[in-house]
This record gives sequence, C-alpha cells and structure tokens, in this order.
Amino acid sequence: MTDLMSKIISLCKRRGFIFQSSEIYGGFGSCYDFGPLGVEMKNNIKLAWWDEMIKNHENIVGLDAAILMNPRVWQASGHLTAGFADELVECRLCHKRFKLDEIKDKKCPECGGELMAPRKFNLMMKSFVGPVEEEAAVTYLRAETCQGIYVNFENILNSMRLKVPFGVAQIGKAFRNEITPGDFIFRTREFEQMEMQWFCHPKNAKKYFDFWQKERLKWYLNLGIKKENLRIKEVPEKERPHYAKQALDLEYKFPFGWKEIEGIHNRGDWDLSNHSKYSGKDFGYVDEGTKEKYFPYIIETSAGADRSFLAFLIDAYTEVKGGRTKTTRATKETEILLKLHKDLAPIKVAVLPLVRNKPELVKKTKEIYQMLKPNFMCQYDESGSIGRRYRRQDEIATIAVVTIDFETLEKEDVTIRERDTMKQKRVKILDLTNVLKEKLGI
Ligand code: ATP
Repeated sequence: MTDLMSKIISLCKRRGFIFQSSEIYGGFGSCYDFGPLGVEMKNNIKLAWWDEMIKNHENIVGLDAAILMNPRVWQASGHLTAGFADELVECRLCHKRFKLDEIKDKKCPECGGELMAPRKFNLMMKSFVGPVEEEAAVTYLRAETCQGIYVNFENILNSMRLKVPFGVAQIGKAFRNEITPGDFIFRTREFEQMEMQWFCHPKNAKKYFDFWQKERLKWYLNLGIKKENLRIKEVPEKERPHYAKQALDLEYKFPFGWKEIEGIHNRGDWDLSNHSKYSGKDFGYVDEGTKEKYFPYIIETSAGADRSFLAFLIDAYTEVKGGRTKTTRATKETEILLKLHKDLAPIKVAVLPLVRNKPELVKKTKEIYQMLKPNFMCQYDESGSIGRRYRRQDEIATIAVVTIDFETLEKEDVTIRERDTMKQKRVKILDLTNVLKEKLGI
C-alpha cells in the first residue's frame, strides 16, 4: 500500500469518515461503514450528483427501485450467463484466487505457485426469499442499479408524460461478489452507484454519448478535482461489458494507478429489447410525429459514489510541511489541509469559544451555535488550544470557523476564519448567517 493511501485510511478512521465494517470481529470481506463525517460527505456527493441531473438538465426524472427483483430480470439482462462473469484462476499451492487479468507471468502473485486453468466466476450475489432455501426462492442482490430503470421504462414514460429523448436518474446500493476486492473503498462487494440512463433515438446515440462524456467530466472538475488527475479512456471492443456498443471509462489518477471512477456506455437496445423478449411486454416506442416504432438506445453514465468519494478525498488531501501557522509551536509539525469543495465538505461551519474556562464566552458561543445549526452543518468545539482546534477543522475541510472572543461580549461581533487562506475578518452577529450563506453559496 502506498504511503498516501495509509495516510488517507488513517485520517478516515481518526476523524470519523470511514471505519472497517464489523471491526471488533476482525472486519468483513472488504466492507466499510461511513462514519459521522463520511455520511455527510457521501450525502453531499450524492446531492451534488442528483442536483446536477435533475435540476441542471432538462427531461431527467428520478427513481428509487427495489434492490431485490424478479430473478428473470437478471436472465434478460445477461447477468446470470457468462456476460457478467470474471475469469478466475486459483493457485494450486496456496489456493488464493485472482482475476485472470491481474496475473502477469502465469504464476501466483502471492506465493509464485502454479495456477489452475481459468474458469468463469459469476459476480451476482445470491440470496433466498421466504422461509425455504430452494431454487424457487432464489433471488439476487442487484449488481447494477439501472435494471430497475429499464423494467419501469413504460411506467415512467406514461406517468410523467415524457417523450424520447429523456433520462432517468437513480442512486442506490449494488452488490458484486468481486474476486479481489481491495484498495480501501475502491473495490468493495457492496457499493453505491449513481446512474443516469438516457433514452434516445438510435441515430442520435453517438451525439449523446459525446455530450454526456463532456458533461460528466465537467461535473468532477467543477467539484474541484484537478484536471491533470482525470482522463478519459476509450474501452476497446474486447474489454467492453456484454451490453455495450461503445464504452469509455472516466479515470482518476489514484495513488495505486489510473482507475475507473465512472463508466459511460452506449447500451444500444440491449436492455429494452431483451426485457421485451423475456417479459412479453412490448417496450417499442412510437414517435408521435413520424409514427416510427423503435427501441430507444440507452446512453448510460454510471458513477460510483464510493469511488468518487475516494477520488475527492485524495485530490483534496494536502500536507503542509512545517505548518501554515507561523505564530505557534505547531510550526514544526506537518499540517493536513483537506481542500474539499464547499459543497462536499462534511462540516460547513465550526463554532469555537476562544477559551473554554470563561463561562460567559462558552454561553455566548453555544447561543451562536444554536442560531447557526438549523442553517448549516455545524460543529461546536471547545477542547484544546485555539490553534490546535483550527488545525483540526482544516483537517476535516470545514469551510469557515467562527470564533467567539472577549470583544464579542462587548461589540456583538465574531471572527470568521477562512479555511484556505486562513484570513480572518470580524462580522456582526446580526449579519453572521447571511455572510456565511453567501460564502457557502446557499
Ligand atoms: P471495474 O472494471 O473497476 O470492475 P466496472 O467496469 O465493472 O468496474 P461498471 O460496471 O461500469 O464498473 O460500474 C460503474 C461504476 O460503479 C464504476 O465506475 C465504479 O465507480 C462503480 N463500481 C463498480 N464496481 C464497484 C466495486 N466493486 N466497488 C466500488 N465501486 C464499484
């Protein structure tokens, strides 16, 4: 593991972003829990994506479909057949299993032992519904959220009186029995996807494929990811998912290499035609004007909430050797500054009394905290020196720190300290909410 990844993982645990699932029992198969700050940040990512899709674009509606579906969905989608399987190899010596594409020189990467012949390994997670464990009760945890959108194609079209082209956006959990999960939350067996499916006329598919790749790239850049850390990789035909006519990966430069954070696919009419075939429900669309009947093509943008969380975190992580504050003893230390975009920062405003042993200061600070709390995600902190508390807030990306000092009691004003510049200015308590709202763009 790289040094940077160890630091990120340590920050996540220390400051309540991410914990290992079932940690007290030794963890569980690459599953993670998002802690108090992690859940705020992840919700912010999901909200930024949702707003982008539903508010900033036209003709996109939302959906929240069930995780469990009729297993025939997965027959129609091709996930139960060879389509959704990785090639797996097993070591004869240590019996560890690897994805075939991770093998470099035909030897086990762990012990150098001889490998067995590759075989297909389906990634669907199986479960049972009802009290009996028999074939009739088999169900699967969805491996991608989008199937819930396809099977509801006609419901959405009719209930919302939509016309092609239109899109459906959904955020939700997906599950894959990955052979080699790892790299912290990069590859897990339970994860969250943010998917938008754009239904269009086949002749416009190429145009929308190009349109959406530009839009999606812009989204990451607008939320602060550095340009040099993002790239687009066209996926060659033999590596494409079974449903894709055209595919590209939006990749981020992780400390462990360039890796996909979002897939953009032209799924053609694979999904609508197969669901029509398997269910008997005709998903052919009739154009009101031309009377032409066709299966709309689907352009999908499929992002991972967890993978983008990791990319945003890594991109924002900054170490300042010797510290930024030149006035305190802390100048000798390395300071951590998390330069997250204001929309993604888990805590927007911290409210601190200059010292905690003056009851009148603490009382005033708590009043101000209560005043701000309904408007912003706030944190009250009184423990430790003021410099140390500022640095704690820098480390979790807090946008503004409001400090209540002795002047506050006389003049009814406070200081606001800005995270990135450390600049401080005094603001009247009466104006505080509006000044912060303006700063945060809300
Ligand atoms: P990979 O090649 O890394 O396995 P994929 O091509 O199978 O990914 P897609 O099926 O295109 O991934 O899924 C879309 C997005 O869902 C990915 O870009 C990623 O952000 C997220 N995702 C997929 N699998 C996982 C996983 N096991 N853990 C976390 N996120 C995932």
